[in-house]
Amino acid sequence: MNYYRELIKTQADTCKSIYIYACTHRALCHYRVRYNVTHHDAGGNTIPGECLLPAVTSQDQGKICVIIDLDETLVHSSFKPISNADFIVPVDIEGTTHQVYVLKRPYVDEFLQRMGELFECVLFTASLAKYADPVTDLLDQCGVFRTRLFRESCVFYQGCYVKDLSRLGRELHKTLILDNSPASYIFHPENAVGFTVLPLFSVFVKACLLDSPSCYLKG
Ligand SMILES: [Mg+2]
Repeated sequence: MNYYRELIKTQADTCKSIYIYACTHRALCHYRVRYNVTHHDAGGNTIPGECLLPAVTSQDQGKICVIIDLDETLVHSSFKPISNADFIVPVDIEGTTHQVYVLKRPYVDEFLQRMGELFECVLFTASLAKYADPVTDLLDQCGVFRTRLFRESCVFYQGCYVKDLSRLGRELHKTLILDNSPASYIFHPENAVGFTVLPLFSVFVKACLLDSPSCYLKG
């Protein structure tokens, strides 16, 4: 890992050479080659203006940053009519308006409200903004999400949209991701609370028991 850090130090200041990101965890290695990397300075520190997230606000200073997925994590959406849909959102696709039927996950309102009281919450979805933004407007009535990130903020890697936590501009040891899809956090599995089958209450309890992601791992 130190080798790559040294390489970043020597190369990143020119902003024109190769940046190699190496993530090693549980015998899993991923290498990415990027060009014109500008979100790290010569010392390997993130540059605020180049990060996905704005600077931490005064009300969120010292808080853990929790990255929260949308589809199959907070809601389930379908183009097929659902009689008990919580929302019906019109989405334009190639000039045709389609109705998207959205079901909220049970207790999602309580979950978001409490998470917003404790953490800096960021919505990060691989979906397109033209669908995810209006859904989040309806879902997040209290303005829990400080920032919303959409597909264009993901890294397309081996056929999947990956949420690269190193681009956020937050300290990784104080960042969590809640996502139903392991592919979304393949670069940072140690920061993830996956919960495909867990109810939101269990996820909330796990997250609230944390002082840091490393504590979660010990648990
Ligand atoms: Mg999802």
